[in-house]
Amino acid sequence: MTERHLNYIAGEWQPAFGGATFEDRNPADERDLIGLFPDSAATDVAAAVASVASAWPAWAAQSPEVRADVLFKAADLMSLRADTIAAELTREEGKTLNEARNEARRIAANFRLYAGEALRLNGETYPSEVAQLVLSLRQPVGVVAVITPWNFPLSMAARKLGPALAAGNGVVFKPSEITPLMGQRLVEVLLDAGLPPKLVALVQGKGAKVGQAITAQAGVDALTFTGSYAVGKQIAASLSTDTRVQLEMGGKNATVILADASIDKAVATIERGAFGLTGQACTGTSRVLVARPLYAELVARLEKSAAAIKVGPGTSEGVQMGPLATRAQYDKVRAYVGIARDEGGRVVGGDALPETDPALAHGYFVRPAVVSDLPENSRLWREEIFGPVVAIRPIDSLDEAIRLADDTEYGLAVSLVTGDLPSVLRFARETQHGIVKVNSPTTGVSLNAPFGGLKHSSNQAAKEQGGANVMDFYSRIKTIYLGA
Ligand code: NAD
Repeated sequence: MTERHLNYIAGEWQPAFGGATFEDRNPADERDLIGLFPDSAATDVAAAVASVASAWPAWAAQSPEVRADVLFKAADLMSLRADTIAAELTREEGKTLNEARNEARRIAANFRLYAGEALRLNGETYPSEVAQLVLSLRQPVGVVAVITPWNFPLSMAARKLGPALAAGNGVVFKPSEITPLMGQRLVEVLLDAGLPPKLVALVQGKGAKVGQAITAQAGVDALTFTGSYAVGKQIAASLSTDTRVQLEMGGKNATVILADASIDKAVATIERGAFGLTGQACTGTSRVLVARPLYAELVARLEKSAAAIKVGPGTSEGVQMGPLATRAQYDKVRAYVGIARDEGGRVVGGDALPETDPALAHGYFVRPAVVSDLPENSRLWREEIFGPVVAIRPIDSLDEAIRLADDTEYGLAVSLVTGDLPSVLRFARETQHGIVKVNSPTTGVSLNAPFGGLKHSSNQAAKEQGGANVMDFYSRIKTIYLGA
């Protein structure tokens, strides 16, 4: 019996207007139908925005303790449900159970962090010659639309919903159509924690239909989006100028290995950054720049270690890399492996797993790929692949490392492996990336540190995550002059 899931609008679980649905399937075995979800459209969005608009002023008027309390309770519930939700995450997105548990368990910490921010929604006071006292007050923005990708369906959403609600806003949430169940689970946790029913609306559906409807809907005061640059650009172009917008987008992240680095450490750092989460992380390593004396050895070692990675269903014991999340991802990764070969690169791995293995025959499995000896203008160097494919190139100096690491339209994360402090300091100051990691992979960030990129990786609105800066996006500042 196929499970039929619902939208949550105006405090009611309900189908999409007109009843259309779409399928959610398991990427490790596409025969496994997880359920049917509402294929929503503009009518659903209009109802969602109207109900959230009616609910947020009362929420904003609550004491900050009440808002914090709901988020603290949501954190507790998330901790209790984390293992169950993690198993569903593996079934829906494909990542290994370990990776899924890490993501699910982190949500509790995320909610706790933002519960604290509700209590720290501070303003400032200013000495003044025109009034007895001048002060600034942070007030909610109103209706915040949240549009998220599938690769971290829980954490990308929690780091938007948490601060939005903490600041007193209401939320219209559209999860990715690839991971609708995770969106639903997050909303259930918040409602069970005591969130007022109309304050949040869950509108499931396709980006081109319901996502676009959100950008065209009057009454959305702010929109926060994480996803691809192509879609982010489209969203920014179609929004009214009155809508505040935050866009976190793609990356073409590099790890730089300087001549003093240990090969073991370099291999471990690259492997984790490039192949963790099946290479489907916005901060994933897709380029490696290595000091020329280490090039041949590093390529050989990476080829060997990538070939030893156990690929399979995320639920299976010992599996280190799950499937790609969708058939489109699978086709894209295989196409880029073909492009690398056509460009004359040396490619080891990247092939589909043998379809003769019954455990793998119906999933989107590929082997991780290591690509070397590419020409300078290779597409693999420039375009975001979003899969387990890493390209390696030799460098002759730190200058060249900085120039090539920055030679991309993106600027999300970059990492450097070396013990040479002057090189670290220069690299960190000069590189055009929002996140610089030293002696660690490009992936893996602290949830309480500012997150965001430069250039096409971000629209440079207020940063996500971190401390008080988070609230810059989710609140408006009003300046008040007090006279006697
Ligand atoms: P995507 O851009 O295809 O979709 C993201 C979301 O936007 C989905 O919910 C989708 O339904 C919606 N959408 C699609 N078209 C829309 C439209 N016209 N109007 C409004 N909404 C629309 O991205 P994806 O494939 O889900 O995720 C992968 C991308 O996300 C990669 O580029 C990756 O780098 C990026 N990403 C970035 C970060 C970050 O924090 N910078 C984090 C994770 C993923």
